[in-house]
Amino acid sequence: MRGVVLHAPGDVRVEERPDPVIAEPTDAIIRVTAACVCGSDLWPYRGVEELDGPAPMGHEYVGVVEEVGGEVTTIEPGQFVVGSFWASDNTCEICRSGYQSGCVHRVPMGSIGTQAERARIPLADGTLVATPGMPDADLIPSLLTASDVLGTGWFGAVAAQARPGGTVAVIGDGAVGLCAVLAARRLGAERVIAMSRHAPRQELARRFGATDIVTERGDEGVARIKELTDGLGAHSVVEAVGTQESMTQAIGSTRPGGHLGFVGVSHDVSLPGDELFFSLVHLHGGPAPVREYLPELIELICNREIDPGEVFDLTLPLAQAAEAYRAMDERRAVKVLLQP
Ligand SMILES: [Zn+2]
Repeated sequence: MRGVVLHAPGDVRVEERPDPVIAEPTDAIIRVTAACVCGSDLWPYRGVEELDGPAPMGHEYVGVVEEVGGEVTTIEPGQFVVGSFWASDNTCEICRSGYQSGCVHRVPMGSIGTQAERARIPLADGTLVATPGMPDADLIPSLLTASDVLGTGWFGAVAAQARPGGTVAVIGDGAVGLCAVLAARRLGAERVIAMSRHAPRQELARRFGATDIVTERGDEGVARIKELTDGLGAHSVVEAVGTQESMTQAIGSTRPGGHLGFVGVSHDVSLPGDELFFSLVHLHGGPAPVREYLPELIELICNREIDPGEVFDLTLPLAQAAEAYRAMDERRAVKVLLQP
C-alpha cells in the first residue's frame, strides 16, 4: 500500500509500505477513507522534534473496516468507523474514568501512521466507534475532525469548564483552537473570545460561534482580555498552541479561580512556580481523551448540528502529501485533508 513517510525535516515522501496485517486478536484493519495533516505533525517536519530515522506519519483517520481479529466483538467488516489518535481498551480504570488517552494499554496511532491507504487499529473494540450506517460523503471531513482536532478542542473547552453564562478565551487559531471555539459555544458559553490575527481564521471562528476577536498577543493580549472581562480575566481559557508565549498568555488571561484547559502539545514550556502560585488558576490539559467524546460528536455531526469539517480548507490526494505539509507549514492552509 501507499503511505506517507517522513525521512528528514522537510522530506515527506509517499512510498510503498507493507500492507497492515492483524498482529493481535484485538486488532482491526481499515481502508482509510480520509486522513489529514495535524499541527503536531509539523513539529518533526520542522525539525523541532527529533526524528529517529524514517517515520510513518499520521494519526487521524476515518475508514471502512476490512478485517477484524478473533477477539473483536463490537466492530465488524463493512462498518464505517472513526477512532481516536490514541488506541485504548476503553475498559481499564483510567478509561472508565474518561481518560482514554491515559489508558494503561494505550497505543499512539502516530506510531502506526494513518496517512496511508490502510491502517492497523489496535484495541479495535475500545478505539473505534461505528457511524450509524454509511455516512454521506459531505459528512466525512467533519467525522475526520472528530478523530483528533474536534475532540481535542472539545476536551480543551471541557477542561476549561466552558459553561452557560461563562466567558471563554481561546488562544490559538489553528484547527484545534477553532474547534475549541465551536465546543465552547456548544457547551453554552455566553461569550467566546477567539485570539487570531488572520482574517480567514477570524471569519471561521465567527462562524463557529466566536463573539469577539482579539488580535493582540502576549502582555497586550492579556490586557485586552482583561478589558473585555471587567478587569478580571476570562472564566475559562483554552490554550491550543503549546509554546511558552501562549501558555504565559493563557495563565495571565484566566481570572483567579478560573480554569485553563491546555491542549497544544507542549514544547519547551516551563512555568514559574511563583506565578502559578499567585495565579489561583486551575490547570488541566494533556493529550485529549477523544474516545470519551466520540459517540456524542458523531451524533452531532450525523444530525448536522455541527460542521467542524469547515476547518479543512484544502483537500489533496495522498500522493501530494508533501504539498499538504508545505501548505500547513507556510500557514497557507488551516488543515489539509488527504484522500488515499
Ligand atoms: Zn484503558
